[in-house]
Amino acid sequence: MTQEEIFDVIIIGGGAAGLSAGIYSSRARLSTLILNEGAIGGQMVLTEEVANYPGVESTKGYLLANTMKNQAKQFGCKIKSNLQIKSYDLKGEIKHVVLEDGREFSSRTVILSPGGRPRPLGIPGEEEFKGKGISYCATCDGDFFTRKEVIVVGGGNSALEEAVALTQYAKKVTIVHQFDHFQAFQHAIDQAKENPEIEFIMESELRSFKGKGALQEVTLEHLPTGEISSMKIDGLFIFVGYIPNTGDLEGIVKLNERKEIVVDEGMKTSLPGVFAAGDCIVKRFRQISTAVADGTIASLSAAEFLRS
Ligand SMILES: Cc1cc2nc3c(=O)[nH]c(=O)nc-3n(C[C@H](O)[C@H](O)[C@H](O)COP(=O)(O)OP(=O)(O)OC[C@H]3O[C@@H](n4cnc5c(N)ncnc54)[C@H](O)[C@@H]3O)c2cc1C
Repeated sequence: MTQEEIFDVIIIGGGAAGLSAGIYSSRARLSTLILNEGAIGGQMVLTEEVANYPGVESTKGYLLANTMKNQAKQFGCKIKSNLQIKSYDLKGEIKHVVLEDGREFSSRTVILSPGGRPRPLGIPGEEEFKGKGISYCATCDGDFFTRKEVIVVGGGNSALEEAVALTQYAKKVTIVHQFDHFQAFQHAIDQAKENPEIEFIMESELRSFKGKGALQEVTLEHLPTGEISSMKIDGLFIFVGYIPNTGDLEGIVKLNERKEIVVDEGMKTSLPGVFAAGDCIVKRFRQISTAVADGTIASLSAAEFLRS
């Protein structure tokens, strides 16, 4: 089935970035369609409590997502969820997006905001304790571990910087890393090593998570000896990489070596009329507020592009 209408803006992904772009575009009277794989709201829906979004004292992630969705709809934004995109044709003046079920949508501009996901360790118990002691975001969840003992897994810049940040809350932070050295900038290594609240367990990997209702204990393997030990713990933060949801955009827009979409300060991608926003772009800090800002900028740039 081919849809006749040519939208001004099609937004791929309905998380914080996509919904913000949807609010701005539809409020600017641009005909706007959000195409979202899965449930609307993206990672916000996975977040039990959001306590750091300005203007909202503390709320459930799904409630914030719902408010953004309703706000976009009130301005006339169309939203289609639980769908799968089959292919893109974004080069021409009119862009085309084809879904797996055969539906096709066209527009003059496209905003890509498919988000991403933290790379999991992939070991037993990780899924069960996600949000119940296991976190992938120190900025979001650090406060829940005030005066508690936590583990940070990883040896890159994020792991070391977030471990230092976590010492504002936790009384003890133990970094567990698989190698005998870190793959981080020297200043990040120095800062972590100079911090008296940080301890290190090197050449070790986590093997399992245990607890009743919430994480209480982990088992570790010391790689050179194969020795297995257990450790009581209140929380665990995993920083072993991040996976942008850009697999289907390779060869379509310019990505960097980490598969993040390359944009300029106006959120313009390598293709005219195609913009990108949120966790999928090249950036250092991935938060709801930064995704909202990116979505806003992408929408305003798309409007400017349409006017020109
Ligand atoms: C557990 C957890 C807790 C967090 N807590 C906080 C917090 O307390 N405060 C804070 O500010 N930030 C927090 N964050 C980070 C924050 O949620 C993200 O930075 C932000 O929501 C990213 O928004 P986004 O729109 O860029 O991407 P996402 O939220 O990832 O949304 C992308 C959307 O696009 C859809 N999608 C993906 N691929 C496609 C495709 N090919 N076609 C169509 N749709 C697609 C996805 O299904 C999803 O709905 C947390 C993150 C996690 C994982």
